[in-house]
Amino acid sequence: MTDELYRLLLQRLTGASAGPEAEATTQEMLAQMVAADPRLQWVHQYLAQRQAANAQEAHNLSAFARESDDSQLRAVRQLRQQMKALMLELQELRERNDSLAAALGACYLCWGEDPECSYCAGRGRPGYAAPDKALFMAWVAPAGRALKNQNLNVESGR
Ligand SMILES: [Zn+2]
Repeated sequence: MTDELYRLLLQRLTGASAGPEAEATTQEMLAQMVAADPRLQWVHQYLAQRQAANAQEAHNLSAFARESDDSQLRAVRQLRQQMKALMLELQELRERNDSLAAALGACYLCWGEDPECSYCAGRGRPGYAAPDKALFMAWVAPAGRALKNQNLNVESGR
């Protein structure tokens, strides 16, 4: 009987079958062996300690994996928010660019700075096209008036 238990135990310990069920069966066999031969108590203790250490390590690993998942999720969420904010800002800047380019009759893509530009071939500086009058009055005329006032003040010495 004891020889048979040894053989089964060795089979279990060498990994012939692994998993929680095998572990439980191994514990039962060890208990029987210790009952038959109390000198084997230290083997039982050693294996119990090893099993506890393995369980602790598995617990630590899964906690680490959860923490790591959480921080990755936070990072992804943060990146999405930054991306959304950047897209909104980009959209706003494009609208302002297009509006000012139309006010000045400039190429809205390159403002005449790109000879490879598909829209103006690099000729799109302000005045390239007829300015949009309403946009010109909204964006440019106030700046022109401010400039004129500044020049008048300089000329009159104020
Ligand atoms: Zn252009």
